[in-house]
Amino acid sequence: MKNGEVVLKGLNRRVFEDMMIKSMRRRLSVLGEWKITLAQSAVSAEPLDENTDLNEAVEICRRIFGIVALSRAALLPKDMDAILENTGKYLYDELSAAHTFKVNAKRSDKSFPYASPKICEILGERLLNEFPDLSVDVHDPDIVVTVEIRDRGAYVHGNQIKGAGGIPVGSSGKAAVLISGGIDSPVAAWMMSKRGLRLCAVHFASPPYTSERAELKVHSLLKKVSEYSGRIDLFVVPFTEIQEQIKDNCPEELFTIIMRRFMMKVSEKIARKNDCGALITGESVGQVASQTMYAIACTDEAASMPVFRPLIGMDKDEVITIARKIDTFDISVLPYEDCCTVFTPKHPRTRPVLKYVLEAESALDCEKLVNDAAEGARYVLIDSMRK
Ligand code: ATP
Ligand code: MG
Repeated sequence: MKNGEVVLKGLNRRVFEDMMIKSMRRRLSVLGEWKITLAQSAVSAEPLDENTDLNEAVEICRRIFGIVALSRAALLPKDMDAILENTGKYLYDELSAAHTFKVNAKRSDKSFPYASPKICEILGERLLNEFPDLSVDVHDPDIVVTVEIRDRGAYVHGNQIKGAGGIPVGSSGKAAVLISGGIDSPVAAWMMSKRGLRLCAVHFASPPYTSERAELKVHSLLKKVSEYSGRIDLFVVPFTEIQEQIKDNCPEELFTIIMRRFMMKVSEKIARKNDCGALITGESVGQVASQTMYAIACTDEAASMPVFRPLIGMDKDEVITIARKIDTFDISVLPYEDCCTVFTPKHPRTRPVLKYVLEAESALDCEKLVNDAAEGARYVLIDSMRK
């Protein structure tokens, strides 16, 4: 496994590598016992039980941030005959499907009697004999057969698999994502987790206007995200009272912006209590009335901690591409009511002016409403590792 950006972190490198290995250890443990070792910036994980499901292990590792590339390798004795005998067998399916190949050898253990070019030559010849339809292409082969002679033995593998990239979860601290049932916020959560943030989540529910199914949809979305981010502490906030108060006491066209400001304030309160250093939202400039630059400026003013908006300059189709990749899209499009669709005004202000928004808000006991909502939040643990 290649740890990419982790390698670039200089003095922090050791800490980053430890975090990544800790994630691997924790997540692979569901499949059995492993020996996980680090040498020359490459991590290897070896199952101690013969029946371990290695396909599943690859799927798990592909979701661990910090891993740029991985390969599934056979560990053979450091013996040329063993390498010649087993490489074709081990990579049989991939070599049969390929038209062209090349061998790439790395000899870290210099006591091995064959130098790298010699290993390439002998093994290349053997594979050409075993697979008569295959030919050599050193520039753009379908498959690169790699042999690495290391301390523990000879590792043989085919093409590398792309990892999730990013940096290990937890290495950047913790932040709270405002999660709706929509397409955007799960993607925003995933993107910031990729940058090393551990996640907390806040969801606003407005029973009886929103249903239990809408909340369960949020659980499913976060569960998908937690396959990458690890466990997520979710807080479900009762939002009905706040929405009704705004509706009854503030001008209709400012309903959405004031509601969004309350979301920020309540989320910030919960975030601070849970050691989070920032909020995360799925906003993107111009996407809807509440996301014009002017509306975002009014929303932003409600929170005093940094607000990360990783989708800010993305088009919807770019967001959807990521949503499909992380498998949240099909859940997001299920048609349940979100609290944002409750009481929405016909003509929301697209250029709200902060001064008037604050004036309108003064009709409410904001502090009490925020405190009551934050204190009334219900905790749910989301963890993809729990069935
Ligand atoms: P999404 O697809 O994430 O729902 P959206 O395009 O529908 O986003 P809005 O409904 O305006 O946009 O919401 C903007 C952001 O506000 C969301 O991305 C999310 O971070 C937050 N948000 C909206 N509704 C909720 C909710 N019910 N609970 C928590 N956060 C919410
Ligand atoms: Mg939404």
